[in-house]
Amino acid sequence: MDCIFCKIVNGELPSQKVYEDEFAVAFHDINPIAPVHVLTIPKKHISSLLDIGTEDKELIGHLHQVIQNVARITGVDKTGFRVITNIGEHGQQSVHHLHYHVIGGRQLEWKA
Ligand code: AMP
Repeated sequence: MDCIFCKIVNGELPSQKVYEDEFAVAFHDINPIAPVHVLTIPKKHISSLLDIGTEDKELIGHLHQVIQNVARITGVDKTGFRVITNIGEHGQQSVHHLHYHVIGGRQLEWKA
């Protein structure tokens, strides 16, 4: 499958990993919009939030715990941060492998 995040998972593409376990990996975004900008992804290829199945319930819970770890590792657990998953065209999703942006390290604004 021609998916850049699957290539990061299987080591074909390099990444700056923050955290990895059997089911998930978290790595620095190549084009960060804030001092902390980490992508947390499942190793399993799921195209977007819309493609999460009932069989993925445990995995999605686990991803939330991975995000907690990422927040602690990067220090934004102390200051606050934002978690975003973009979906489809209007959501401006550019990589079609489920990923959660963990963004922080500065005061964020809220605008769509
Ligand atoms: P989205 O636009 O929500 O699909 O987010 C995709 C994100 O992946 C963007 O913020 C990109 O900067 C980031 N990205 C694309 N390729 C890479 C890569 N090879 N390593 C790290 N981040 C990447």
